[in-house]
Amino acid sequence: MKTIRDIWVEFKDQFQKVSLSPESDFKWLVENVLEENHSFHWTLHSELILSPLKAEVLSTFCRRRAEGEPIAYILGEWDFYGRRFIVEPGVLIPRPETELIIEIAKKKFKDNHPQWILDFGSGSGCLALTLAYEFSTEKMIAIEKSPQAIPILEKNKKLHGLTDRLDVFASDVVDFHCTDLWGKIDLIVANPPYIDFLDQEIAQDVKKYEPKEALFSEERGFAAIHSWAVVAGKYLRPGGFYLFEFGKGQAQEVFDFVTSMGVFDKVEIEKDLNGIDRVAICKKSD
Ligand code: GLN
Repeated sequence: MKTIRDIWVEFKDQFQKVSLSPESDFKWLVENVLEENHSFHWTLHSELILSPLKAEVLSTFCRRRAEGEPIAYILGEWDFYGRRFIVEPGVLIPRPETELIIEIAKKKFKDNHPQWILDFGSGSGCLALTLAYEFSTEKMIAIEKSPQAIPILEKNKKLHGLTDRLDVFASDVVDFHCTDLWGKIDLIVANPPYIDFLDQEIAQDVKKYEPKEALFSEERGFAAIHSWAVVAGKYLRPGGFYLFEFGKGQAQEVFDFVTSMGVFDKVEIEKDLNGIDRVAICKKSD
């Protein structure tokens, strides 16, 4: 017979080695196993005796976490902009800084919702599906090349009941050809792979568990940033916006590149909550 505390005591030290937030990691796992919400504080129920099945499931989850596996993959779900998404190893785990793209889109299209939206490299679909909730958009198109990611994206579409409004195209962004849509799109969003293959700062668990094609890009991390901006320039309508995320230290080069394309008449850079330049806002010339 095991209590919640017994399992915490067993794994505490191992959690501390792999995680910056061992207590909250354990809290997430307990909540999931006991089917409780975030207001459940296990420390107030630490002597609760778990059923053998729940104790086994919680121990297995803890063992996986102790090996460094991200919580989101263990739970199979993660929150983005206040909504839950299915997240499995084929897709990137949604990050809070990516929510900035949603905030900016809402500001730019406050009075006039975009009617046509593209999401480049959609992954779990967290950006496209969130925009579908926030806007009364007629048509959204998610472009995703990864055969591992597409089934997860499809599951999220169903989970959120948005199958009618979101089309998924299995394609690399640069190979997406739909000439009918050139010059027609109001808003394009992207969180491209932007990490340099030689980056030494990337966290080991990110590198080990998350999909490489969603993280890394050639040309010191700039290849997708460059080629996707060119594609965005073709599809946007005059006055439309391309919003995309980039990495720490890339702002100046991103700004110089998109400005030099001669397609966007206004380029702004927005900082994330940590004060790091994070999102480019590119307005296509009228
Ligand atoms: N758009 C998805 C996200 O924001 C996937 C991004 C990616 O795979 N690079 O998380």
